[in-house]
Amino acid sequence: MRIILFGAPGVGKGTQAKILSSKFGIPHISTGDILRKAVKEKTPLGIKAQQAMNKGALVSDDIMIGIIKDTLEQDDCKKGFILDGFPRTHVQAHAIDDMLAEMNINNVCVITLQANEKEIVTRLSNRRACKVCKNIFSLTEIEKLTKCPVCNSENSFYLRTDDKEEVIKHRMEVFKEETQPVLKHYESKKKVIYIDALGSVDEVTKRIMLALKERDSNKFSTSA
Ligand code: AMP
Repeated sequence: MRIILFGAPGVGKGTQAKILSSKFGIPHISTGDILRKAVKEKTPLGIKAQQAMNKGALVSDDIMIGIIKDTLEQDDCKKGFILDGFPRTHVQAHAIDDMLAEMNINNVCVITLQANEKEIVTRLSNRRACKVCKNIFSLTEIEKLTKCPVCNSENSFYLRTDDKEEVIKHRMEVFKEETQPVLKHYESKKKVIYIDALGSVDEVTKRIMLALKERDSNKFSTSA
């Protein structure tokens, strides 16, 4: 299974990617997580990426394409992967097409999570991350907790710099201008599955699983 999870920031890509990764036993590749780790560790990549990330802007295509190339070449990606946060520009989309073609991979499925902008902005400003395990929670899920429900760390919740109101606005603009048009690229290849991302995490997962099952049975009936 090879999935590109597409959608606006805050629509729930990371949450669904983690669930699908454990259901299918394939790695979850989050470019945002890779960059945040590099920023935390103050690596040369982190130092280059931090300024753009803090502003809600995109990190350069060259850097991002390099990261994805290195990651996809690793052994654990051979049996499949879930890409979360890549591609975000036309240049990145063409680059990954080329990489996959070189690897003889032609069964990538693009799942796009959809929600209206108002809902997304509310979700982003109401979410908190655990600084230890990096899982994301809504304020309502953790309001009475002092420990992270996933890794048990004490007082580890924080508001990501890029989830602050002024940065959210910019991230949404960047999404509309640079990332949303990338969907057209995949639509022209008829590879897109649309999923309503409103509702509970569980409901959204069920919709994705159903859509994947339908896609597989269609594939079977057309090839039979
Ligand atoms: P995310 O957690 O996916 O929302 O990513 C957080 C931030 O990392 C983004 O706002 C960008 O600054 C940067 N980033 C992540 N993925 C990419 C990408 N594919 N291209 C450019 N910048 C990215």
